[in-house]
Amino acid sequence: MYKVTLIPGDGVGPEVVDAARKCIEATGVKINWEKVDAGADIMDKYGTPLPDKVIDSIKKNRIALKGPVTTPVGIGFRSVNVALRQKLDLYACLRPCKWYPGVRSRYEGVDLVVVRENTEDVYSGIEFEEGKPETSELINFIYASTNVKISDDSGISIKPISRHASERIIRFAFDYARKNNRKKVTGIHKANIMKYSDGIFVEVFHEVARDYPDIQSEDKIVDNMCMQLVQKPALYDVLVLPNLYGDIISDLCAGLVGGLGLAPGANIGEEIAVFEATHGSAPKYKGKNKVNPTAMILSGVLMLRHLGEEEKAERLENAVVRVIAKGETVTYDLGGTAKTSQMAKAIIKNLK
Ligand code: NAD
Repeated sequence: MYKVTLIPGDGVGPEVVDAARKCIEATGVKINWEKVDAGADIMDKYGTPLPDKVIDSIKKNRIALKGPVTTPVGIGFRSVNVALRQKLDLYACLRPCKWYPGVRSRYEGVDLVVVRENTEDVYSGIEFEEGKPETSELINFIYASTNVKISDDSGISIKPISRHASERIIRFAFDYARKNNRKKVTGIHKANIMKYSDGIFVEVFHEVARDYPDIQSEDKIVDNMCMQLVQKPALYDVLVLPNLYGDIISDLCAGLVGGLGLAPGANIGEEIAVFEATHGSAPKYKGKNKVNPTAMILSGVLMLRHLGEEEKAERLENAVVRVIAKGETVTYDLGGTAKTSQMAKAIIKNLK
């Protein structure tokens, strides 16, 4: 019996998490779920979107299945998702983007894996607000040390990229490639412009690549990479990126394989792993039982694999594949009219 923290999240989170939980249980795996709440809906009750008991539960169980959580834009609380990844040091974000027969997409056969660094870069949360004394102090310091004058009406976000965090995420990508019979790892950066931050990332990429002579490696500049992925996605395999580019390219790759409804994910640290879809809380669909549960269910497949339940993971993935290929009981984004819960039921029926 496994003990797993279950975080329904907000927006469409509770609907897709419920669907995923039922599908996972239908494989026969025995899980004792510990449900804890996080997100916008509990702000009034707890005064925080991320109560300590959420962190405590994940630390204790070391594994969690999590629904999306809303982050207010510009104002309000900082991202619960970013806070969780940083507090639990879930440094690797693994996002497979695989095309399944039956999915309407511009491309067929795309099978990419995005490995995103999860703890630093501009997501470090080190920000200086416009007009604050500390912001002026920083602007003055930068002027004194570089002779560059940042406009006084600026806000500033800091982008740290460290050698050790770059090394561990790049090793994670190469280890993943080796373990999963992948041929190539592409390291993505903008080191031509950000020489001292992305510069470290690309330098470490080539150092680490030398330890994996069995795997092809190359580096690409992020803007070129976007164009390459849209034109020739079949040329790529495993992609490893700093946090911001990883966030953006994850959605681009989800778009290549049919959309966010199909893109699962995992946030992995040395001892703890939190499984969640790439998509957010899609507030306009909240409570409508309408969105695609596949991304969340496939996140459950990643969780089963992480637990060593390969056979159950394979059966659940195959059931998803069958339902998508038949195309009868699929949600709107796949051209169907099925509700979230109906698609989940069809997947359970197709478990063999
Ligand atoms: P979103 O991913 O929530 O939705 C964007 C669009 O993608 C939706 O309007 C919908 O058309 C489509 N979509 C998303 N999930 C789908 C699904 N399961 N099935 C079918 N279509 C789906 O992105 P957003 O609107 O930019 O963000 C909404 C909120 O979610 C924001 O507050 C954001 O910060 C948050 N967010 C949370 C996470 C997370 O919890 N890990 C991730 C991304 C965004």
